[in-house]
Amino acid sequence: MIISGLTPLSLIDYPGKVACVIFTQGCNFRCPFCHNPELLECMKSTEHDMSTERFFEFLESRVGLLDGVVITGGEPTLHRDLDEFMTHIKSLGFLVKLDSNGTNPQLLKQYIEAQLVDYIAMDIKHKLSKYEQATGRKTRMEWIQESIDLVLSSGVPHEFRTTVVPGIHAPEDFYEISDIVDGCDRFYLQEFRPIITFDSELKHNHDKLDLDWIKRECFQGKENVMIRR
Ligand code: SF4
Repeated sequence: MIISGLTPLSLIDYPGKVACVIFTQGCNFRCPFCHNPELLECMKSTEHDMSTERFFEFLESRVGLLDGVVITGGEPTLHRDLDEFMTHIKSLGFLVKLDSNGTNPQLLKQYIEAQLVDYIAMDIKHKLSKYEQATGRKTRMEWIQESIDLVLSSGVPHEFRTTVVPGIHAPEDFYEISDIVDGCDRFYLQEFRPIITFDSELKHNHDKLDLDWIKRECFQGKENVMIRR
């Protein structure tokens, strides 16, 4: 694991739980709106990285104080020792929430079957025909679909979420996204903030899409849909 950052305490990243958040290095997407561009370069370790030993020292000192650990990125499933890492976390009695972009359904399946994840958050970057506009990379859509199906049928508490970016998404795209996530535990429409972005042009994008309209019109009658601002 290359751990590029740690938030020692968060009340918002793991629904209903008090958690720390670790940021893993490396991602196989290049979403123009990514707000962690420093994490994208794959497996580039720096002197600021935290060793797993130091992380587990920290975590042992939080037994009884934290409920869980959020593993985010970057894309955590790129790290081949992620299963061992999660096994260690769980052996200390913590819950694990895994954030993923859904590009590795085979590993996701293994983690679910081994009961290493207690909550999964998966990004739905766009409707399927426009996915690559949001990922900035050639995307194996069959893997994304497999991950969606896996998460939906896993029995593991989960959420899907889409960062809504003016110029990349149009309000009517969300009719299809509503169908894609039908039956999920929770779906979040996340407001885009033009502060730090991988594509620096997007920092000047101060347009707004009406998230309330999207929720009301595209997700009619779905009470599990929320707006994250
Ligand atoms: S927003 Fe996109 S590029 Fe950034 S970490 Fe997530 S999947 Fe990777």
